Amino acid sequence: MLINKGFKFRIYPTKEQNQSLRQCGGNARFTYNMLLERNIQYYEETKQIDKAKFHFQNDMINSLPELKQEFEWLNLSFSQSLQQVARQLSQALTNCFQHQSGFPQFKKKQNDDSFAVPQKWRLGKGFVFIPKVGEVKMKKHRPLQGKPKSLTVIQDGEQWFVSILCEVNLKEKEKESFDPEKCVGIDLGIKEFAVISDETIIPSMKTLRKNLKRLKRTQRKLSKKVKGSSNRNKQKRRLQAIHRNVRNIRKDFHHKVSFDMRTKYQVIVMEDLNIQGMLKNHKLALSISDSGWGQFTRFLQYKMEWEGKMVLKIDRWYASSKICSECGAKKVELSLNDRVYICEECGCVMDRDFNASLNIRAEGIRLLEEMLKILAEENLELENGSIDFNNYRKENLLVDSEEGEEQSSSVACGEFSSGLEEILSETKFDESGKRRFR
Ligand SMILES: [Zn+2]
Repeated sequence: MLINKGFKFRIYPTKEQNQSLRQCGGNARFTYNMLLERNIQYYEETKQIDKAKFHFQNDMINSLPELKQEFEWLNLSFSQSLQQVARQLSQALTNCFQHQSGFPQFKKKQNDDSFAVPQKWRLGKGFVFIPKVGEVKMKKHRPLQGKPKSLTVIQDGEQWFVSILCEVNLKEKEKESFDPEKCVGIDLGIKEFAVISDETIIPSMKTLRKNLKRLKRTQRKLSKKVKGSSNRNKQKRRLQAIHRNVRNIRKDFHHKVSFDMRTKYQVIVMEDLNIQGMLKNHKLALSISDSGWGQFTRFLQYKMEWEGKMVLKIDRWYASSKICSECGAKKVELSLNDRVYICEECGCVMDRDFNASLNIRAEGIRLLEEMLKILAEENLELENGSIDFNNYRKENLLVDSEEGEEQSSSVACGEFSSGLEEILSETKFDESGKRRFR
């Protein structure tokens, strides 16, 4: 199985290189916004005449030389980086028309620019060569795997990174037969990060909450500083550093937890969460964005897939919390404050989240067994009762809902980050007055 894996390294540009990287990042952002703006114009014009149209990849790439004549400083960028911008925007438009995401947004200046270098870059001893920038010092703290393909340069506040995308050939895993013993349900929660049906509890991180006071204080100080002053810039950097810190701690935690899970379990059943809907509930919002379920689910999904294992998402409307996992009775009402599940039918008393995780698991096994039956009837891929989870998933499980499934997960990620932004909006640090695009 060929997969794409990214390897991220920090780079240490000199003063001149830093200037040049900023220029390239800014140019990529400018080009993106410009192409988007012209696309919107084109749409408005064509709408008047006949049928509304858009410029896609080739049209946009062909318009670049003209754009470079108009804005000379675009020549300071590697031409392929700008072409890549056109491809990205084209893809974003396609995704939008296929209802996989919203209409592309203008990029703001937030010191988080990035630009792609598809070719002509290379690695040397202790440096990476970036066209139009030169040999930039790089700390390669771990070896690459597979075949390096493209490079992306990423700005994160005052720091710069490169992400090297490699094509890795994963060994196909032995096919395993479905073992309900290794199938668990997980309930992603507020109080605990996750409660697993085998009675494992993963406590939540509360990183954002812990840092919130510091964030607010730093933000307050920033708002008092004079715009454009060096003190303001210093304060801005402090704020970005806290954000970066929170982000990294959370990411690390998600990698660790998902790594542990993929070694232990064969099938993980979870609810397809409506993160955006929950973020609207302000009481829950901070805890949810703090736990970062969207990112975690993504990590877990690809890690499991690489192992030939499976994450099975069940309908979010399945009433996992309201059903008694012992007798199947269903409560009409259950408030979020009811931490303990008490069944009036059979009298069993259980932790609410644990009860939910058992129900999620049972629903997952029911679905899987149903699908195994279909497979057996059609005599598909069923050698010695074993199944290839990846094929199984692609060909059967998501036949009806594949589009919907992928759509909802990608939307959830986007929604998640925009939800997080909303919460952190009071800690934003861009100077809107200077923004060209809105
Ligand atoms: Zn019961």
